[in-house]
Amino acid sequence: RMSIVLGKADELVTTICPYCGVGCQFDLNIKEGKIIRVTSNSEAPVNGMHLCVKGRYGYDFVHHEDRLTKPLVREYLLNGSPRPSDGRGDWVEADWDTAINIVANKFVQVKRESGSNAIGILSSAKCTNEENYLMQKFSRQVIGTNNVDHCARLCHSSTVAGLAMCFGSGAMSNTMQDIVEQAEAILIIGSNTTEQHPVFGTKIRQAVLNRKVKLVVADPRAIDICEFAELHLQQKLGTDVALLNGLMHIILANGNHDEAFIQERTEGFDDFQKTIDKYNPELVSQITGITVESLYEAADILATNKPMAVIWAMGITQHTTGVMNVLSLGNLQMLLGNMGVPGGGVNPLRGQNNVQGACDLGGLPNVFPGYQKVTDESVREKFKSAWAFDTGGPDFGEQPGITVIEMINKMGEGELRALYILAENPMMTDPDINHVRECMENSEFVVLQEIFPSETSHYADVLLPGVSWAEKDGTFTNTERRIQLIRSAVNPPGEARPDWQIIAEIARLVLQIEGRKPVGPQAGWDFISAAEIQNEVNAITPIYAGVTHERLNKGEQLHWPVRGLDHDGTPILHVGQFTRGNGKFHSCEHLDAEELPDNEYPLYLTTGRVIYHWHGGEMTRRAKGLLEIYPETLVEISPEDALKIGLNGKDMVRITSRRGEMIARAVVTDRVSEGVIFGNFHFPGEQNVNNLTIAALDPIAKIPEYKVCAVKVELAEE
Ligand code: SF4
Repeated sequence: RMSIVLGKADELVTTICPYCGVGCQFDLNIKEGKIIRVTSNSEAPVNGMHLCVKGRYGYDFVHHEDRLTKPLVREYLLNGSPRPSDGRGDWVEADWDTAINIVANKFVQVKRESGSNAIGILSSAKCTNEENYLMQKFSRQVIGTNNVDHCARLCHSSTVAGLAMCFGSGAMSNTMQDIVEQAEAILIIGSNTTEQHPVFGTKIRQAVLNRKVKLVVADPRAIDICEFAELHLQQKLGTDVALLNGLMHIILANGNHDEAFIQERTEGFDDFQKTIDKYNPELVSQITGITVESLYEAADILATNKPMAVIWAMGITQHTTGVMNVLSLGNLQMLLGNMGVPGGGVNPLRGQNNVQGACDLGGLPNVFPGYQKVTDESVREKFKSAWAFDTGGPDFGEQPGITVIEMINKMGEGELRALYILAENPMMTDPDINHVRECMENSEFVVLQEIFPSETSHYADVLLPGVSWAEKDGTFTNTERRIQLIRSAVNPPGEARPDWQIIAEIARLVLQIEGRKPVGPQAGWDFISAAEIQNEVNAITPIYAGVTHERLNKGEQLHWPVRGLDHDGTPILHVGQFTRGNGKFHSCEHLDAEELPDNEYPLYLTTGRVIYHWHGGEMTRRAKGLLEIYPETLVEISPEDALKIGLNGKDMVRITSRRGEMIARAVVTDRVSEGVIFGNFHFPGEQNVNNLTIAALDPIAKIPEYKVCAVKVELAEE
């Protein structure tokens, strides 16, 4: 435990921010068992003294009166009566044994009656690596299904799939430090970096100001970082493939590609070139709305300032062409020979604090921990013997399980009978909320493990009180694959328990009811600490083989892959060779978004987040300072559209899509261009933009198209 006694605080506890994937380290100042403030720590490896507004002021949700402190179960489950026909009935406080018994027995019953695939498991990007490992182990070993997924499906599943197709490994290739210190040019595309990854955004701004790094921003909105850009390309929504193909067309035509790199390290170039030939600047200008001159200027900046780093986020991934967009970025970096070098690479910025770790530890339906494929027989055999029972098995099947959106749909149809959700809020964050609500209403049995009641808990049968990040130990993995320790700083409220303990307890009881004894070397569930879970991960996850709490506690900086205890980790991927051998060029064609504006719904809607709030807002809406600054959803509307709608300054607007409506306050701003509006999903009910979004999916990644749909806007009563 790194802690010292100081000033007015009784203790400082060094830990990692619970919000974004930058992974800033700071000190929680503890007095009389409460967090009284957050202070910077000059030794923090990622951020030094920098912290953004959420990291510095977003901690007081930990002690909020809404915290869940006791297990809650629906009354019908206690008195053995059928579930009420008009809902789920009243909540009743229960002791832990009662709640765990209800959950374990229901899982066993559903397995027996309908098979393991009638159960779904939603893991959590908010929780630790150790907890994510246990959730997927519970799903695969105890339940016997690959139906495990989490919110990475909704943010970067196209990145994981696309980069795996290009390079064999689906993660950020470089570190934030080598980019800001060594890149000569940076392309930010579909990332509102200064609001969503603020400390990295600050460092990029400093690199532009101090080192004169050439910055090109491609974004349909005039986001803040554009002020620091040499060039802002304001492409129409959903035209990224055309834009990138157009830039690569010019780079090839000018002979600015890296011939030697293409020859030595890649395959598929000839077919790729045939596709690129078609995307001449005039055609691309027509599709994207960007002038031919700007296309030439951008291509020149990106090709002649090496190394160039590409950075993206959900503006690239949340499309029905999400995987194509990512493949195009892989193509660009191979074409320019910017892979495997400091200051270059492909750099998807991961959203939540531990979404990288939740993917790494197998919280996905197609891979075991460390991206070991479910469809690979030798991998399946390895996990079968590691997690073996005295009765044989486990049997998790040979095919990937179903994804988040598919689970919700199947639950609505009655095919999925039980869902175990760890710290997620699909009733806020999934697209087309009205449809999600119908599915949740039809669901048979939902277990929610959370720190607050949420929009999703209305549809839960059992509510288990987990703990916040400040009340448990474990590790998070940040966007650049850096594994870092979090440390418990305060006691959990009431009877709330660390999530890893709750998962393990349910697992033990299910196995006990079924009469199965763990006999494999990693089959047991009697963990006494998060560190012990990590040791189990090491044994069966090659990319985490050398990651231990002991090493991290000594201050070692580890980026996976960490191949063993004597391996120092891998800050830069793909040096000399790609994970898959040669990098693979892919031919990508421009395709329209699923739903385009028409006479009835004449405007584009795009969605995202704002700096003061985080995701579904469960934590930041309970942080007083943040809520005071940004207390309600604000929808951005261009001056031209405001005039047409009859807005005058700030007014309430009703926005309608084919799926639902929202009512929110409008802000007239030229951040959005004519014909485009922007909203966020931080506030529930009528203020949630996900009432409008469309659940059209990318065919490979199954990510929804949050970034484009068609809406109409009219004035609403104040
Ligand atoms: Fe936390 Fe991200 Fe802000 Fe850093 S940049 S303080 S990790 S929210």
